[in-house]
Amino acid sequence: RAKASGKNDIRSFTPELAEKARERLSLETDLRYAMQRQELQLYYQPIIDLQTLQTIGHEALLRWIHPERGFIPPDRFIPVAEESGLITALGAWVIHEACRQNAEWQRAGRRAVRVAVNISMIQFATSNFVDTVKSALHESGLGVEWLELEVTESVVMHDVKMVTERLTELRELGVRVSIDDFGTGYSSLKYLQELPIDTLKIDRSFVNTIQKDAQEAPLVKTIILMAQSLGLNVIAEGVETIFQQEYLQSLGCSEAQGYYFSRPLPASQL
Ligand code: C2E
Ligand code: MG
Ligand code: MG
Ligand code: MG
Repeated sequence: RAKASGKNDIRSFTPELAEKARERLSLETDLRYAMQRQELQLYYQPIIDLQTLQTIGHEALLRWIHPERGFIPPDRFIPVAEESGLITALGAWVIHEACRQNAEWQRAGRRAVRVAVNISMIQFATSNFVDTVKSALHESGLGVEWLELEVTESVVMHDVKMVTERLTELRELGVRVSIDDFGTGYSSLKYLQELPIDTLKIDRSFVNTIQKDAQEAPLVKTIILMAQSLGLNVIAEGVETIFQQEYLQSLGCSEAQGYYFSRPLPASQL
């Protein structure tokens, strides 16, 4: 790697920037082939009903096992997919595959549960997004009530008019929608009340404040109370201990997911 030749020499930064750009481009190129080469796979993390402790759904989480680099986490390649426009095709594959798998489980005689699919903002904003959802439901034969879409708070605050229209269309179709990573963004509470959504998912960083030695977790309490008063379902993300489970149960939180119950697993291992 070239060393900086002088403090104010702009060229001294070039090798590093060029390397970053190369890295990104090579990820992008590889991502284009990853689907065809079957390097992409959905893992599923159970979502637990806190009253019955039964699994009532699974969140589909995308995994990329690169032939040379090994496991690449979604937080690294989803942004590349978004910037390159690949997210539309990739996201459509995820919805189709998640619906197909869930329908297959139901046909095999398993108790019916929901499947939750993460939707990127760029994907959500494309004009044919709702058609993609319809075609995934149609091709898989999955009942619409078994599909839930997860959008982050930033999506929701992106373009209020577009988002409201799209959510309304999805609601009319009968698809459930949840707000992911709730509490980390900047939702206007008034707006939240008006949106046709079903569920708030409390971000892991809040659930993590539920600790034995800590007094209480005021933000977790507040989010659960708010969800209840808005008539929304509430899911706690990132539950790692029985203490957290019991605390959430005592607050009346309806559902939870996290390593305490199960890590995300390939379909064959669930
Ligand atoms: P997310 O939707 O908030 O997913 C939850 C993340 O928390 C997952 O990380 C999951 O593995 C992790 N997790 C679950 N329980 C625990 C726990 O108890 N402790 C800890 N420390 N972590 C836990 P993952 O799979 O790495 O996914 C990261 C993010 O990537 C997701 O956050 C989601 O925003 C995005 N993502 C994943 N799959 C897709 C996809 O198919 N499409 C899109 N657009 N985004 C996706
Ligand atoms: Mg999610
Ligand atoms: Mg989340
Ligand atoms: Mg997230």
